[in-house]
Amino acid sequence: MTTDNRQMWKELGIDLESHDALLSGLGPVYQEIYLSQKNRPEGMGFFDFVVGDIHGIRVRELRQHAKNGGKVVATYCVFVPDEVVLAADAVPVGLCAGAQFSVPVGEEILPRNTCALIKSSFGFKLGRICPYVQTSHLIVGETTCDGKKKMFEILAEHHPVYVMEVPNKKNRASLDLWRSEVVDLKQVIEKLTGNKITTDKLARATKLVNARRRALQRLYETRRASPVPISGKDALLVSQVSFYDDVSRCAQQVNALCDELEKRVAKGEGVFPAGVPRILISGSPMAIPNWKLPHIIESAGAAVVCEESCIGTRAFTNLVPETDGTVEAQLKAIADRYMQIHCACFTPNDERLDDIVRLAKEYRVDGVVHYNLQFCHTYANEAVKVEKRLEKEGIPLLRIETDYGDDTGQLRTRIDAFLEMIRG
Ligand code: SF4
Ligand code: SF4
Repeated sequence: MTTDNRQMWKELGIDLESHDALLSGLGPVYQEIYLSQKNRPEGMGFFDFVVGDIHGIRVRELRQHAKNGGKVVATYCVFVPDEVVLAADAVPVGLCAGAQFSVPVGEEILPRNTCALIKSSFGFKLGRICPYVQTSHLIVGETTCDGKKKMFEILAEHHPVYVMEVPNKKNRASLDLWRSEVVDLKQVIEKLTGNKITTDKLARATKLVNARRRALQRLYETRRASPVPISGKDALLVSQVSFYDDVSRCAQQVNALCDELEKRVAKGEGVFPAGVPRILISGSPMAIPNWKLPHIIESAGAAVVCEESCIGTRAFTNLVPETDGTVEAQLKAIADRYMQIHCACFTPNDERLDDIVRLAKEYRVDGVVHYNLQFCHTYANEAVKVEKRLEKEGIPLLRIETDYGDDTGQLRTRIDAFLEMIRG
């Protein structure tokens, strides 16, 4: 930690004492969960470096952008289109938080029976612990779930917030509503930045975000191999970093990692012995530094090979068509791509069930772990349908409901029993 960083955090209004406590806890956890893994791909070095300086270099880059007159737009959900933000020369940064550290701070205002992701994210702002939120000029929220929707109203008392309306259904009227929401966002971002969003700029931004999606698709493609060339924990980290790193650099680093992983696959090299149980995690997102579940699963001798999640396939499945049409046509193409995200906030949401079954087959998994953040009612209720569908397909399922607290012992017992059952 350099003196320069401390000065920057001070200027951002960070509560330095709390912030020190947060960072000093992160190092040993990262050592235990990540750096102790054997046979890691060399390409993970970049991602280790980014996490090692999690509130340093990237924040400095965003500050520099702001000092040059640019804007930083923070988001909490994969429904907010990065393309629109980038096309106005603003920088998008994902703010979802996965740390227990800020949950008690969030609970000072929010009800305790709110999902940990919401409390943690809110606590980061309230406690002035997150330099990303402090650097941002606007938070763009959405109406995906009731907890977040109402939290944004309270957050707006502390920071500039704009909320997009994400519909609950996927019919014609909902699609029209969502398309108009994307057009409205364009206007909001143009006003914030003072920059006009043109066809050229939107086309460039679309290519950029698609390139990141393609790189992540390529990463996931390597995880279909047996033995798997990268641990689930490392793949999760790559995905988490992709939410706040520079879009183009991130795509480049993911592609460099994939070059290495593809060589491993060609040589039949893996990070786990061949034949270990292969697990798909499906459900609520796991924001950084929430690594609990994959760590427990992989410590128990299984490999996490895919995530049907917003820190997994939902973030990169489907590209935006790269058309050179009018701005209106481009925005429509963007809106339509985002409406193909199968979040549990939609009803009905059978496409997600189809996705889970398809991914289970494509990644040749031995079982699915359904991950549910406590008090996340959409995913909890949808798990009932997931269970029925997987039973019909003959795919073993374990339903886990947890938060950011330490229930490792209990979870380990349940996961061990599940893997025992799979191994027969
Ligand atoms: S789970 Fe739903 S609300 Fe949460 S990030 Fe994904 S799309 Fe957004
Ligand atoms: S995990 Fe569930 S309750 Fe929490 S923010 Fe996402 S959709 Fe909302």
